[in-house]
Amino acid sequence: MGKIVCKSCGSRNSIRLEYGMPDDAMISRIEAGEVMHGGCVVAGLTQDFYCLDCNAKFDKVSSDMFMKGLSMIKFKLSRTEKHRPVVHQWQLDFSHDGNRELNGFTMHYQFYDEEELKTDKKGVFIADMHEVKRQIEEIGLEYWLEEYHGEPDVKNEEWILELRTSDYPMGVSIKKGYHHRPYTMVKWCRLLKKFNLSDKLFRTIE
Ligand SMILES: [Zn+2]
Repeated sequence: MGKIVCKSCGSRNSIRLEYGMPDDAMISRIEAGEVMHGGCVVAGLTQDFYCLDCNAKFDKVSSDMFMKGLSMIKFKLSRTEKHRPVVHQWQLDFSHDGNRELNGFTMHYQFYDEEELKTDKKGVFIADMHEVKRQIEEIGLEYWLEEYHGEPDVKNEEWILELRTSDYPMGVSIKKGYHHRPYTMVKWCRLLKKFNLSDKLFRTIE
């Protein structure tokens, strides 16, 4: 059993994946339940771990292919706060000016309170991109499942995440949640909130 924490559900109940045509040694590892066979043909992306609780395939951090190709992240969170429906919406653009090495990214944040636009903030976020990327890499948005479902509660939370990547198997991937959050979403929301609050690092574009 793996000890690493699943990015999708937080479980430690995962098993290592092995790819390729199994030889005798691999077959005995599979039979002993030490590893799981990930497939014979290694095409594109492979992950090292398979979560036995939520079926997510994941690695300790996001793949280089994903991080290099990542050009845009959209995230919309709709929920009930103080008995009122609110919407938080972020768009992070990492490819402005066609230069990914640029030391910053554009962020557009909107906040709706009962369908009324209360905050509309757009600007260039001048940040330590190395640190920002390290945090995104660790959150592993890449490994979230396509859909999460839970029982409706007072927060009545729904969210949608859109990831745009180039030179990566999925050019655009959409992930959604209904009254349920992936394990690393707390970290993700904390990071976004930090961006929202850091006015010093934020240069507004009108
Ligand atoms: Zn899991």
